[in-house]
Amino acid sequence: MTAIEQFLEQKNIRPTAMRILVYQFLDTKEIAVGLTAIEHAFDKAERTTLYRTLKTFEEKGVVHQIDDGTGTTKYALCEAGCNCDVEQDLHLHFHCTKCNETTCLTDHKIQPMNLPDNFTAEDVNLVVKGICDKCND
Ligand SMILES: [Zn+2]
Ligand SMILES: [Zn+2]
Ligand SMILES: [Zn+2]
Repeated sequence: MTAIEQFLEQKNIRPTAMRILVYQFLDTKEIAVGLTAIEHAFDKAERTTLYRTLKTFEEKGVVHQIDDGTGTTKYALCEAGCNCDVEQDLHLHFHCTKCNETTCLTDHKIQPMNLPDNFTAEDVNLVVKGICDKCND
């Protein structure tokens, strides 16, 4: 069994060929990718199959969604040990307005949010917009 198969099984995901390929694809990307970009990379796969794969990954804490304000939902692999917990696993995201790429800044954690009494956070999307390091030279 490969490391990816083992990892997916640990997350209670049956390691089908498609899931392994999508995982590998996301693993090679340093930026968050939208469904259309994934679809272009897998010209033989159905969009719905890819979408379902991403949804499964999301439910099992393998990927997280980022809404970067472009109207396209982006997906990125979670860090090892991430439970996608709004209290613990928050990191900044950066959307570059020049190259249009969205990056997880996983080393830049966000402090737990202070909400008023009786407000419960379910999903947090923190995207900083600006010029990335590649576009900034
Ligand atoms: Zn996560
Ligand atoms: Zn850029
Ligand atoms: Zn992220």
